Amino acid sequence: QDPSAYIKQHIRTVPDWPVAGVQFRDITPLLSNPRVFRVLIDQFVHRYFDTRPAAIAGLDARGFIIGSVLAYELNVGFIPIRKKGKLPFTTVEETYELEYGSATVEMHTDAVQPGDRVVLIDDLIATGGTMLAGARLLQRLGATVIEGAAIVDLPELGGSARLRAAGLPLHTLVDFA
Ligand code: 5GP
Repeated sequence: QDPSAYIKQHIRTVPDWPVAGVQFRDITPLLSNPRVFRVLIDQFVHRYFDTRPAAIAGLDARGFIIGSVLAYELNVGFIPIRKKGKLPFTTVEETYELEYGSATVEMHTDAVQPGDRVVLIDDLIATGGTMLAGARLLQRLGATVIEGAAIVDLPELGGSARLRAAGLPLHTLVDFA
């Protein structure tokens, strides 16, 4: 069976969560089933094995789960990009707009060295704002973002197009229209 179709079958859609009208794509069934979890992680391992990134950067919080396992398999370091207020050392931060209000993400200033080639990963691309903010943090510290990666793209929300227009290549496994 096609791995993307297999993965898609194991994503649960929860209607009206966190607010009415949203169809939340829940990836936790991909993690609880060891066969699916392995197929999922292997998709990214195969994609980046020959790329030899300096590190994997993961976005808070589901990007930590898949990103840390991917980094371990590739034998490279893992960099957490966190919601504001969680990282203890000196940080850089980026604020971006949400539908209502704004959000801020942070990264430690010594997390990458100038010239490092990094893959940035999260579970899902909606408007693309989170991924774009993470990419900016890495770029501000002189790293090159080889590619953004995610399990799911919601193309109708325009995020993947926005990221590509901003010059960030993107690799996703599953689309939901
Ligand atoms: P964006 O910044 O692209 O608008 O939103 C993506 C971020 O919000 C990601 O960090 C993702 O974890 C979270 N997110 C938004 N909608 C969903 C959803 O339907 N399912 C999951 N799993 N995460 C979502």
